[in-house]
Amino acid sequence: MCQSTSESINHLMLHCPITDMLWKIFISLIDIVWTMARKIIEVLLSWEKASTRLTQKDGWRFVPACIWWTI
Ligand SMILES: [Zn+2]
Repeated sequence: MCQSTSESINHLMLHCPITDMLWKIFISLIDIVWTMARKIIEVLLSWEKASTRLTQKDGWRFVPACIWWTI
């Protein structure tokens, strides 16, 4: 997508600059401290933990799937 590195699944879905912008948009909307993990499974586990701390958590569980669908 960005043609700066090989298109591994972790790069495309987590670390590509274009994908990173999408993640930052959503993360800026909620009050969590977030460090992007290296692998998708780690992101899903961290996102699930972060979502449980939100008062309005409905819908936030689906953010990773929405980002990946968009990509
Ligand atoms: Zn890329």
